[in-house]
Amino acid sequence: MAYNCVVLIKQVPDTKRITGRVMNDDGTVNRSALPAIFNPEDLNALELALQIKGKFGGRVTVITMGPPAAAAILRDSLFRGADDAILITDQRCAASDTLATSYILSCAVKKSDYDIVLCGRQAIDGDTAQVGPQLAEKLGITQITYVEELTQLNGKTITARRNIGNGWQQVQTALPVLMTVTSQANEPRVAAAKKMMKYKNACTPIEVEKKIKAENPNAGEADIKELVAHKCAGLEKKGLLIKQWNLDVTGADLNWCGQSGSPTKVHRIQSVVLAAKESKEIEPSDKGISGLINELIEDKIIA
Ligand code: FAD
Repeated sequence: MAYNCVVLIKQVPDTKRITGRVMNDDGTVNRSALPAIFNPEDLNALELALQIKGKFGGRVTVITMGPPAAAAILRDSLFRGADDAILITDQRCAASDTLATSYILSCAVKKSDYDIVLCGRQAIDGDTAQVGPQLAEKLGITQITYVEELTQLNGKTITARRNIGNGWQQVQTALPVLMTVTSQANEPRVAAAKKMMKYKNACTPIEVEKKIKAENPNAGEADIKELVAHKCAGLEKKGLLIKQWNLDVTGADLNWCGQSGSPTKVHRIQSVVLAAKESKEIEPSDKGISGLINELIEDKIIA
């Protein structure tokens, strides 16, 4: 039996490679100081979907909601083996909290043919781990969170091992299911050279328009529109047009999107900057390391 997988992926600021001032004066995140990357555990979710496809067949669709630049992680997914890619981008998504985000994503997933929905356990920026479980609720399907191993997939039954902090739990359920996947689940594959060659020119209509405007700075709006339509039709024929949906295409009720669909209100933001007060050099020897460990134990930093 073949299984269709839908993987939800998010482009996030790389919180490990901070290159400047992370916070603006108004308390918002200065995204230009942080390179944008594929949320790490979403790569594990994608890898699990690709392994399912490799073993049983079926299609892998990746979906992201974000700004036009998020198309980069959709292309990356195509390079790794995904079959379809959808970008949900719309100004009306702005200010969406996790409830609104999961609602919008649920509308998009409902338009897809799926047996298994996969999310990363958690995004490294928002860090709530709420979107996966909320999405399962909205789809009305079973969820298995914190998946570290897919043990068995047999007909319409799935068995998975989930991390419960101080051990693991093996659970079994009927499809369809939503799983949130941890970094222990697998080692994500790298992009395949052949697929990179095939999909390097894959892009969204917004990207096509940006490029055409840059190439034709004196063209009028009607000409640009025609050129974009022509280019997009050509890309679609070759399977290189990344789908771009706005909220109208998802069929989402606007009352549940953006600010009006977001009950979370941020009352105060505090920027905590951990500055090193002093540094200490450790001798690169067993003696130096033992000394450091003893010091950390004495200071009750480790036990
Ligand atoms: P988690 O719940 O930790 O993510 C778990 C998994 O869900 C991910 O690994 C991934 O598989 C999936 N997932 C999460 N988000 C997405 C996504 N966007 N697309 C596809 N899959 C996804 N963010 C903005 O970008 N713009 C805003 O204007 C904005 N306004 C906000 C306003 C408020 C009041 C609040 C509270 C938050 C706002 N956010 C905004 C942040 C936004 O709500 C979260 O980034 C988003 O809901 C995801 O939550 P998370 O990062 O905690 O993801």
